[in-house]
Amino acid sequence: MIIKLHESASLQAVQGLIDMLAAQGIAAAPMTGTAHRLLGLSGDITALDVDSLRALAIVQGVQRITPPYRAAARSVHPADTVIDVQNVRLGGGHFAVIAGPCSVESEAQIIAVAEAVKAAGASMLRGGAFKPRTSPYTFDGLHAEGIRLLLLAKAQTGLPVVSEIMDIGQLPLFDAVDIVQIGARNMQNYALLHAVGKLQKPVLLKRGLSSTLEELLMSAEHIMAAGNSQVILCERGIRTFEHYTRNTLDLSAIPALKALSHLPVIADPSHGTGVSALVPPMALAATAAGADGLMIEVHNNPAQARCDGPQALTPAVFDQTMQQIARIRQAIN
Ligand code: PEP
Ligand code: MN
Repeated sequence: MIIKLHESASLQAVQGLIDMLAAQGIAAAPMTGTAHRLLGLSGDITALDVDSLRALAIVQGVQRITPPYRAAARSVHPADTVIDVQNVRLGGGHFAVIAGPCSVESEAQIIAVAEAVKAAGASMLRGGAFKPRTSPYTFDGLHAEGIRLLLLAKAQTGLPVVSEIMDIGQLPLFDAVDIVQIGARNMQNYALLHAVGKLQKPVLLKRGLSSTLEELLMSAEHIMAAGNSQVILCERGIRTFEHYTRNTLDLSAIPALKALSHLPVIADPSHGTGVSALVPPMALAATAAGADGLMIEVHNNPAQARCDGPQALTPAVFDQTMQQIARIRQAIN
């Protein structure tokens, strides 16, 4: 980090700042021979309050050299993180597809979809039991019963399961859920991030609707700083001016996040487009862009789905897409 000082800063005030930083274990060296008065900082600046530095009268500006996240940073931990859920691996060259309905609706539905996605080659089953809905009048999941049915499908197929948690109070219901999902709307729910940071299981963290990559990585940092290093990042589309698609799937986020972080990165072309016809091509594109996995919504009867029917693939289309994904993986490896 570099601090730019005001020309008028007295030597005494600058020394006061150097001493204050030294007390926090940070060495601040004056950089001379330039047109500006600068201080170069070295040491662990993770906990340094940059805003309070900027507020000092002698400080004109502060420039970061290292990112504000540390646990999630590739520059600090170069090796890829590999998530292992009952021998299903994700990251570090391992690719996994998580598929299933937007929401668990009934025993027959979740079992049928689970069997179908397993047969097509999916490695994990998704299914929402607690659904964040824009309208309070629409179906918001079967709650505890939804988790029970999802676990029934897990027992029947052997597929590890992923489900979204919306509130800390729901945690006990997630004991047997293999991966806990933090949805886009809760990406900056810090109390929830800290709570899942105390779990000993992977967390699938979705990018917020209008969040930058740095904000996503800072949310991952909250989970990791609380003690859980098993975080999967998920690009699920962001808000733009385009309304043809539900969101704009930011494909460039995939290689960018992988360069910035060692955490596995998956893409969700279902919420990323909102249109079932666009899901297969975007699944292939995300695979080609280097994603470590995909999350795809599949429903045995999309027209009757209680949530996100327009973006759900039928089992037959999902099966075809899985075959194309395998060919893309072969081509890029
Ligand atoms: C979901 O995966 O069901 C979901 C609600 O996704 P998102 O949080 O990305 O909108
Ligand atoms: Mn959905």
